[in-house]
Amino acid sequence: MEGTYEDKSGYLRFKNNDKLVHRKVAYEEIYEGSEWDHIFPFSEMVVHHIDGNKKNNDTSNLRIMTQGEHEIVHGIDNTKRTKEYSGQIEFDLDFIDWIMDNIIIIIILFLIGIFLYKIF
Ligand SMILES: [Zn+2]
Repeated sequence: MEGTYEDKSGYLRFKNNDKLVHRKVAYEEIYEGSEWDHIFPFSEMVVHHIDGNKKNNDTSNLRIMTQGEHEIVHGIDNTKRTKEYSGQIEFDLDFIDWIMDNIIIIIILFLIGIFLYKIF
């Protein structure tokens, strides 16, 4: 892209004002006039590169999201660290699933327990 350079983090910036290209594109092409415009100020929003290529600043590759959404997107993504976390989450969900599947049996056993406790 003419009139731009790559900064230390790998993002393209305009030579004349050092502003990030993807934020300008996202602001002018996506944010302005959209529903985001009314909810959050642009300065609080994150512009995410969908394909992970920091230099692909096509509007189809940019997504405006909140900080929280952005963390979720990168959490589900494929970094090593988050795999450990997602493993933990899967375990927790499996356990909850197991309880939900067996909830009636658990309740019956619990009631039998109370019943036997009262008799003896
Ligand atoms: Zn991102």
